[in-house]
Amino acid sequence: MRMELNSISKSFNGNLVLKDICFSQDISSVAIIGPSGGGKSTLLRILGGLLAPDSGTLGFDGKTVHFNEKDLIEYRKDISFVFQSKGLFEHLPALENVTLPLVHTLGLEKSEAKAAAQKLFDRFGLSDTEKKYPSQLSGGQQQRIAIARSLAMKPKLLLLDEPTSALDPEYTSEVLDMLTELQGEGLKTIIVTHEMGFAKNACETVVFLSGNRILEQGKSSEIFSHPQTKQLQSFLDKIL
Ligand code: ADP
Ligand code: MG
Repeated sequence: MRMELNSISKSFNGNLVLKDICFSQDISSVAIIGPSGGGKSTLLRILGGLLAPDSGTLGFDGKTVHFNEKDLIEYRKDISFVFQSKGLFEHLPALENVTLPLVHTLGLEKSEAKAAAQKLFDRFGLSDTEKKYPSQLSGGQQQRIAIARSLAMKPKLLLLDEPTSALDPEYTSEVLDMLTELQGEGLKTIIVTHEMGFAKNACETVVFLSGNRILEQGKSSEIFSHPQTKQLQSFLDKIL
């Protein structure tokens, strides 16, 4: 799976957020890191086809994805998003949170959807949460259910925007362990994260975004052991 961004720029209300972003990678597991306000979420939304850039192009497996309805419907079939706040439906029990999109978006029969959801809950140790409402669950359980919900759609690529930053620290590792396991099975991921241990050890490549630009990108082992820019050095000094 190859993704290419050519000279992407984006402003909000006259403020430049992304300037001339060029990115070309065979995606396996990518971590996007960098200071707050640097444009990470904006970049992720453009990569996921949720937000149109002002200029520049997005390429996917050799084809240009135009930001029109026809191209985007096709493109988004293979992509799922997980956001910082879990975004579960509060009025539905956990299992129904996962079956609902299977019935309404993929058109599965209720019984098929239930079986598929239960399989995921079993696999990730979530079976005793099936009948509970999100408010009765820990943040870690809620986020793992949100990830299970995304997986149920069988995406080729999962995009995650700071999936652990709204969690109490004790729940971070259960979510990151789940992601590491999925990456190990070949699920492609692009994740915005402040968890540098995870970026370094579980993600193959890293993109460092700061001051509207990609300042460094490459293999995570290289990026962390030999930061090339002052900005990345001082970012790592602060965060590690
Ligand atoms: P990060 O995820 O790295 O913290 P963001 O991509 O969320 O950065 O935001 C980059 C900048 O763009 C910030 O200054 C933010 O306020 C601004 N921004 C993001 N989305 C919008 C929007 N929809 N409208 C206006 N400004 C926005
Ligand atoms: Mg963000």
